[in-house]
Amino acid sequence: MSNGPLLSVKGLKKHFPIKSGVFGRTTGYVLAVDGVDFDIEEGETFALVGESGCGKSTTGQAILRLTEPTAGSVVYRGEDVVAASDKRLRELRKQMQIVFQDPYSALNPRMTVGRAIEEILRVHGIAQGSEARRKVGRILQTCGLAPYHANRYPHEFSGGQRQRVVIARALALEPKLVVADEPISALDVSIQSQILNLLDDLQDKFGLTYLFISHDLSVVKHVADRVGVMYLGKLVEVADKRAFYDNPMHPYSEALLAAIPVSNPKLRRRRIILSGDVPSPANPPPGCPFHTRCPYAMRVCREKVPELKHAPDGRRVACHLVHGDYSEEERRDAEQEVERRKAVEA
Ligand code: SF4
Repeated sequence: MSNGPLLSVKGLKKHFPIKSGVFGRTTGYVLAVDGVDFDIEEGETFALVGESGCGKSTTGQAILRLTEPTAGSVVYRGEDVVAASDKRLRELRKQMQIVFQDPYSALNPRMTVGRAIEEILRVHGIAQGSEARRKVGRILQTCGLAPYHANRYPHEFSGGQRQRVVIARALALEPKLVVADEPISALDVSIQSQILNLLDDLQDKFGLTYLFISHDLSVVKHVADRVGVMYLGKLVEVADKRAFYDNPMHPYSEALLAAIPVSNPKLRRRRIILSGDVPSPANPPPGCPFHTRCPYAMRVCREKVPELKHAPDGRRVACHLVHGDYSEEERRDAEQEVERRKAVEA
């Protein structure tokens, strides 16, 4: 019998107030995350993808309550993280760790990495003294470093080694869930694959579950089991990796995948050109948030928000076109618009 997902996120929102004037009055809100729902099964890697500013990192931080959610629930192993007391949250955080993009700013430059990890072990009551030092040596070795690296300061490491230290620090508390927020994007291309391999090995060894946040769809293709695409604070498609890469359904997913360079011309995708800029999350468009850039936009798209609903193959997509929520007249108009754009592009 299944015990249910390890993590279940429902209706998660994070709205940042916009303050202005001398009295700092709230004049609006940036809807960074605006009602996101997904589950992550134990042992899987769920990737959140999208352009910069789409809300994927804020989603990761809201899940761990590094930023307090505005609304919604985050249920970890049956327990609502959002409703947890401060004391309980500290205990839950042992099981839910985060690895940030920039390993340098994630480490204290005035502390040896050994002391930094020992400190975490001590604060959480896991080990101290010689036992903590032994544990630090073992964790560093597990992450591809040597025990003597414990005596070094962050600036004495290369970028790749520093990210190994950050991963070691996250693992010190023996978490079940790791939020990996763009864990390789600040690294040299030549060492990115080493860190990806390390994350993969650690997942096998410790049965880790990953929420992998990335803007890079070619990286996600290698690491993810399932993919969630975000646009302007909302999920627009959630699908198994293979279904997503073979046959993206949401027009935004199509456009993102069409932008990945492919060496084999036979495998090149139909090119969708995204017109216009990403709208401001402080003033998102009505209806479908993607309608201002979507080549298939119909009248219904400008008026009605598409729900994230199941498609016949089981994935979830938020698009009127995919779900057939349009009139014949709208379909004809949209087709004409696509033809017109093709003619302009040609
Ligand atoms: Fe495009 Fe309409 Fe689908 Fe939005 S709902 S992605 S505008 S076709």
